[in-house]
Amino acid sequence: MIAADSQKPVFRFAPSPNGPLHLGHALSAMLNHDAARATGGRFLLRMEDIDIARCTPEFEAVIYEDLAWLGLGWEIPVRRQSEHVDAYRAVLDRLRQRGMLYPAFLTRGEVKAYALAEEARGTPWPRDPDGAYLYPPTDRDRSETERTRLLQSGAKHAWRLDMRRALKSIAGPLHWIERGDGGTVEVKADPAAWGDVVLWRSDAPSSYHLSVVVDDALQGITEVIRGRDLFQATAVHRLLQTLLDLPAPTYRHHRLILDGDGRKLSKSAGDTGLSALRADGLSPLDIRRLVGL
Ligand code: GLU
Repeated sequence: MIAADSQKPVFRFAPSPNGPLHLGHALSAMLNHDAARATGGRFLLRMEDIDIARCTPEFEAVIYEDLAWLGLGWEIPVRRQSEHVDAYRAVLDRLRQRGMLYPAFLTRGEVKAYALAEEARGTPWPRDPDGAYLYPPTDRDRSETERTRLLQSGAKHAWRLDMRRALKSIAGPLHWIERGDGGTVEVKADPAAWGDVVLWRSDAPSSYHLSVVVDDALQGITEVIRGRDLFQATAVHRLLQTLLDLPAPTYRHHRLILDGDGRKLSKSAGDTGLSALRADGLSPLDIRRLVGL
């Protein structure tokens, strides 16, 4: 389902409060904010703070400060993912009842060992678009008895999407609408490239993929503008939207701001942090110029 064109556009900036914002975040936030202003649309802010071990109220407070300093205004209340775990759990349960999920017990080390053993036998083990080994079929192929036994023993586990079953259950290939600088194109989505993605983590509730599609739908987001690093993940989002019968926003994946060595900025890169630049005496206009707006 594609969101109706007549709808007032709704944009969002969705940072994770697990570190200070940098120039890349400033670009994302300003593009969303400016697009909302230019189209008479709405600009929402969402705190993707599901990873409770890494997200803090202090980082959240600095995000508000940085965005306000940039001159951006957003709607209140801000949606905080940590306050909506029940909504994500309910969606997870729906998928589980449809047989789309399985409990996954392998540790990262065990996945790597499996992949290396396969490669030693001469089969290159596939990697996902981010370069991580795909999850082996070990847990997917377990018998129900074995699964129940492991769950009852209290073994630590995540919940993964059974990609083969999920793809079989949908009709036809998936696409998304990408609005780029050169125009609007339809991109073919390839969720299978990600293998059996995690939808519920063993160390934190929900997963990025699950909560982002639930929230974009619940908040009525019509246009997602975010960094190019999430371009391929959109395939998983389109699959989940289709499985859950949620509307699909359009997407725009913007260029990334790179550091002097050509690497993507990270939250620990202090000198490109907005607060540090502000303390150095830069103005919001300087930030716009620095990110090429
Ligand atoms: N929370 C994600 C991040 O900070 C962004 C998610 C999105 O825009 O879809 O990278």
